[in-house]
Amino acid sequence: MSSSESLFTRALQLIPGGVNSPVRAFRSVGGSPFFVKAAHGATLVTADDRELIDFVCTWGPAIHGHNHPRIKAAIAHALEHGTSFGTPNPSEVEMAELIVSFFPSIQKVRMCNSGTEATMSAIRLARGFTKRDKIIKFSGCYHGHSDSLLIKAGSGALTHGNPDSAGIPAAFAAQTVVLPFNDPTALDAGFAANPGQIACVIIEPYIGNTGFIQPDPGYLQHVRAACTAHGALLIFDEVMTGFRLARGGVQELENIVPDLTTLGKIIGGGLPVGAFGGRADIMNLIAPLGPVYQAGTLSGNPLAMAAGIAALQLLDELNPYARLDALGRQLRDAVLAAARAKGLPVQVPQCGSMFTIFFADQPVRDYDTALRADATRFGQFFRACLAGGVYLPPSAYEAGFISTAHEGAAIDRACTVLSRAIKEL
Ligand SMILES: *Cc1c(COP(=O)(O)O)cnc(C)c1O
Repeated sequence: MSSSESLFTRALQLIPGGVNSPVRAFRSVGGSPFFVKAAHGATLVTADDRELIDFVCTWGPAIHGHNHPRIKAAIAHALEHGTSFGTPNPSEVEMAELIVSFFPSIQKVRMCNSGTEATMSAIRLARGFTKRDKIIKFSGCYHGHSDSLLIKAGSGALTHGNPDSAGIPAAFAAQTVVLPFNDPTALDAGFAANPGQIACVIIEPYIGNTGFIQPDPGYLQHVRAACTAHGALLIFDEVMTGFRLARGGVQELENIVPDLTTLGKIIGGGLPVGAFGGRADIMNLIAPLGPVYQAGTLSGNPLAMAAGIAALQLLDELNPYARLDALGRQLRDAVLAAARAKGLPVQVPQCGSMFTIFFADQPVRDYDTALRADATRFGQFFRACLAGGVYLPPSAYEAGFISTAHEGAAIDRACTVLSRAIKEL
């Protein structure tokens, strides 16, 4: 078996940056990435035969830990019958019934292959339904890499954004308004500056993609009310938070009914998947019922459905949310105690099994305050944790994830390693 170093050298020749998704390249924490040859429970096994306690959990999906026996068995069973049929298959119906039972706001649902496809399609649907072109998104919320969503705030922020990637036409950016999160006044101003033009507001209701950031009390209620008042649809992007922070995601915790919801990650049980759903009168506009086109050769894939169904059934059986929150608090409290002993300013926003360690002296409540955190110190901390056998997200601006497999020895050991890393900063 090749070492991580030799694999990375080979990868760099043929794969841009040596990786198939940029955050894996370790650019923001320094060093080069390790390759993983196996994963089980809370543990990654690297190509160099190191065992690491994993707080990335494949960026969210692995809420039951890696390679859970029930999910593995479900995939193996589905495999007996074939990998893809190109026709409707029974597990798609079962999956739809499960999703609707977890998310009361979803009356109809369409499966796709990634979170990016889910948000892209939900936005097309919102535009088709409202017959309006513009959308509102928030700085620091990530919704996948489609053109309308890789937009950052521009000089005319209230009316249009700027491309956040080369290759995105300015004409697309002109249709996306990017506003600060947690700022009700900015949202009202955004609606006022674009009267009758906003098709939808898309939001990560609890942000997981600038690190973990929670909204102020009442903020999401304000967003809901503003959408209703202006005839815009509200899209909750719960690709990360759905099934993770509660059975029914943030909308259950906050008691809010969005018009559309996008899902992914956990519903694939570790295989590629996405979904979007919501009010039946809106969903009925999708082809073949209506004029909004959306399709996918592998959508509703029987292996992905089997893995996802097993993951959701496990959530139903275990109801792990209180246990996961206890693990999250244990980790947070250990970091806060070590930082206090050292006199180091640190913020550890945490809810259930999501958390971020920001080296900042002020609470992080939006993109701008997240950027004030000390990323250099985070890099140092990250490398010390990795040396101690704990893998945190390789960026100062990503959320960490905990699984039920972390219970017991893994979380205790991680608390020791993180505390020591802080002490030695
Ligand atoms: C991961 C993520 C996406 C994109 O999902 P992919 O499967 O990576 O395309 C979209 N929205 C949110 C909130 C995410 O966390």
